[in-house]
Amino acid sequence: MPKSLPVIQEPASSLNKDGSRNFVHPADVKGRFTTRRWITFAVLLLIYVALPFIEVGGRPAVFLDVARRRFYLFGAAFNAQDFWLVFFLLSGMALVLFIVTTLWGRVWCGYACPQTVFLEGLYRRVERLLEGPRNQRMRRNAAPMSFDKAWRKGLKHLFFLALSLLLSHVFLSYFVSLPSLAQMVRRSPAEHPEAFAWMAATTGLLYFNFAWFREQLCLIICPYGRLQSTLTDADTLVIGYDKKRGEPRGKRSKRSTEERGDCVDCKRCVVVCPTGIDIRNGLQMECIGCAACVDACDAIMTKLGRPTGLVRYDSLNGFEGKKKRFWRPRLAIYVLALILWSVGSYFAFSSHEPYEANLLRAPGGAPFTVEDGVVRNTLQVHLVNKTDEPQRYHLRGLADDAGLEYQIPIADVELPPGGDRHLPVFVELPRESLRPGLLVRVEVQPEGAGDPKVVEARFLGPGA
Ligand code: SF4
Ligand code: SF4
Repeated sequence: MPKSLPVIQEPASSLNKDGSRNFVHPADVKGRFTTRRWITFAVLLLIYVALPFIEVGGRPAVFLDVARRRFYLFGAAFNAQDFWLVFFLLSGMALVLFIVTTLWGRVWCGYACPQTVFLEGLYRRVERLLEGPRNQRMRRNAAPMSFDKAWRKGLKHLFFLALSLLLSHVFLSYFVSLPSLAQMVRRSPAEHPEAFAWMAATTGLLYFNFAWFREQLCLIICPYGRLQSTLTDADTLVIGYDKKRGEPRGKRSKRSTEERGDCVDCKRCVVVCPTGIDIRNGLQMECIGCAACVDACDAIMTKLGRPTGLVRYDSLNGFEGKKKRFWRPRLAIYVLALILWSVGSYFAFSSHEPYEANLLRAPGGAPFTVEDGVVRNTLQVHLVNKTDEPQRYHLRGLADDAGLEYQIPIADVELPPGGDRHLPVFVELPRESLRPGLLVRVEVQPEGAGDPKVVEARFLGPGA
């Protein structure tokens, strides 16, 4: 069994000893990982804002039209009946995340999670712009209220609200079309109360989260952070401190050369940490893998003329100087599961058809009636047009040896895009011809997209 990473059980970094909130003020940092994160944030923010504007096949690339229960994903259209396919989407995403975490730890949290992207890429930038670097922010926070403090804080919160409003409108545009959103913005909220309520709630949540709650979401609410220790092992790439090289730590002036470790205890790795932890204490649940401490320590080591990498990306085996493995049982199991998932998804998505037809019993009535020696079943064909074009369908009852007689009052029907309809089907049979196992069979012939299909249901009667 692979050895699990030791996780340090320390009090939450966002709390003071008396239980009050310890508001984290990370210091600015520069370096290769910070640059990579900035580029990733910019690309992801661009994708988030641009996706509702990008069209594939005349529809937004990603559009969840909840009102019409239609979903568009890069040109493919789905409706409520296809909801079961969501299972494949979610399970696939989970498997990919398992593999990524096993290989590279919390790279998702540090580089791509919306919480990190919005907080670091937008809100903290505004804060830095209006309130200055870490030391200034902390000094001003501790000082009594003044004009300077009031206008800076006031303006910051106005910007936070504006950002939250903007992000929530972009979010809404994934659920209502852009032209509808533009119309709603111009009209009174009373004309679209539901959409307005969603927008207001999303804005409020975003503002609360990014103005105050911040890293507590990762520490208290996010289940992924808690799963971390079960998904990683001694070969997972994590961010850690090289104890062998760094200890004994301490100011250079206070130590003789022989007893010096490379860590000069400058605490730069601590003050840049957005969750307020000290990575030198070992891997902690609060670590979101942002690599700010790596860049901070590398800069110190470069200044001191020592090799970088005292805090670095490495595995537990790497830090202990042991051999690193790429393939290990858990990774092989996740990859195998992903292969099986791919095969299952291929069949699931290729079974997606342009229309759906089912033969159902008419609701409410008796399953059959007998009158003048004739058994009668009342059924209905439920037809769903899953395409984006109007489609015409023809219905025909298929006769059999038993002599079932069909009456289909609406045998030709046109359905609008995404529309559905229940079409009655009456079937009769002389009672003396009744036998068990008889099937009502109706052929549905689409004029446009899709192949003909036959839908079936049992013909019911006394004793059959
Ligand atoms: S930044 Fe490097 S040298 Fe400074 S305290 Fe952290 S690990 Fe030690
Ligand atoms: S310990 Fe380092 S990598 Fe982890 S959250 Fe803090 S700064 Fe980021």
